[in-house]
Amino acid sequence: MRNHTLQIIKGDITKIKADAIVNAANNSLMGGGGVDGAIHRAGGPEILEDCKKIVAHRGECRTGEAVVTTAGNLPAKYVIHTVGPVWNGGEKGEPELLYNCYRNSLMLANGHQCKTIAFPNISTGVYRFPKPLAAEIAQRSVRDFLENSEHQISEVIIVCFDDENYKINREMV
Ligand code: ADP
Repeated sequence: MRNHTLQIIKGDITKIKADAIVNAANNSLMGGGGVDGAIHRAGGPEILEDCKKIVAHRGECRTGEAVVTTAGNLPAKYVIHTVGPVWNGGEKGEPELLYNCYRNSLMLANGHQCKTIAFPNISTGVYRFPKPLAAEIAQRSVRDFLENSEHQISEVIIVCFDDENYKINREMV
């Protein structure tokens, strides 16, 4: 029986009241532009403080991996920071790394008892991943996790910020 859903919406992920929202971070976890900047601005300095502690303990976050921090002032409970691959033509493992971002974020959320989680369109901004391929990988990774593993996630939301990603993702469901 399916007791989980995958939703595609258009919006600003910092406004989403999910147990976890995912940040498209960079390896340093020190903040940046795009969705990363928006999350740190809206969530406040506590998020960066947690990121600094993580880096001090275990070093930078590798591409495809995920770490969890407080969500500070955001309506979510946690921010999961994952590092998407920079698109360099597609022969450098980019598809697998992007797949791992979604999978590792879902596993981490599940380990923190999250039931709802929201993702941005990871790597499709300054990291230049082709949007249609990114959408296919994102949806496949989420479905693989939801359908093939033991978990208590009931709702996954892909939050599209730009019209192009929204259209591509909607047409692919
Ligand atoms: P990356 O470096 O992984 O490419 P970006 O932040 O540049 O990260 O872009 C990733 C995606 O996040 C883009 O599709 C961009 O439109 C989107 N984005 C930017 N701001 C927000 C926001 N506030 N909420 C949700 N998505 C956002």
